[in-house]
Amino acid sequence: MGLGNLWLVNPASFPDEASYARAAGASDILDKATVVSTLDEAIADCVCVMGTSARGRKVPWPVIAPPDAAAKASQQSEAGQVALVFGRENHGLSNEELQRCHFHIHIPSNPDYSSLNLAMAVQVMCYELRMHYLKGLEGGDGSPYLKPMMVPGDEGWDVPPAPVRDVEGFFSHLEQVLVDVDFHRRDNPRQLMTRLRRLFQRAGLDQMEINILRGILTAVQKSAGAADTAKNTSRAGSTAGEQE
Ligand code: SAH
Repeated sequence: MGLGNLWLVNPASFPDEASYARAAGASDILDKATVVSTLDEAIADCVCVMGTSARGRKVPWPVIAPPDAAAKASQQSEAGQVALVFGRENHGLSNEELQRCHFHIHIPSNPDYSSLNLAMAVQVMCYELRMHYLKGLEGGDGSPYLKPMMVPGDEGWDVPPAPVRDVEGFFSHLEQVLVDVDFHRRDNPRQLMTRLRRLFQRAGLDQMEINILRGILTAVQKSAGAADTAKNTSRAGSTAGEQE
């Protein structure tokens, strides 16, 4: 997620084979990790320290939501180092450790079971930091991943959008096929075509999609016509048989 500065406070085992296996290719982060024996050493040079916690504390502390924490971290990083502090897998951060922090970050999980695995909590915070970074990328519009969903007509879509004439042609064709296959009756239309219109307008069809849909309708017509002919032929055949 673009972060590379990992500090480990009094790790149970380091370097550790399992951690390299789990890093899956990001071993450079482990290679350059800094190992210290106390939290105080780890945060000594930081201008802003944010501790993560699954629980509320007896003495309330400024709690900040993950996206705001990312914004704050990015803003404060202009002044100096910012630390995000995570606790031990089994018992988190102690009160003393949390009191070293300017802010507490709580990921709003289900209050009935608020404690996430350490790795999950780290990833949520790394994601928030990454999103904040991408949004602020120079050029204003950030990463393509943050843009609203692309639709026909937008730059980058591979086929031009279908003009109204073609979409209307498709609706007429669709209605005709639905009549042909006895799904729809023009004398008792209910809201069928209105709802189908709404469905397809919502999709925002492009020219190739219209061609495909018209191709399908034509194939249905041919096949229904063939079935009719086949039915008629077999009826004619059996009638002929009965007559014999
Ligand atoms: N029982 C411990 C939970 C340890 S979970 C406790 O109540 O603190 C291990 C670490 O994951 C925590 O120390 C914290 O850094 C992080 N974490 C887990 N759930 C979190 C949450 N909902 N919000 C913020 N951090 C969380």
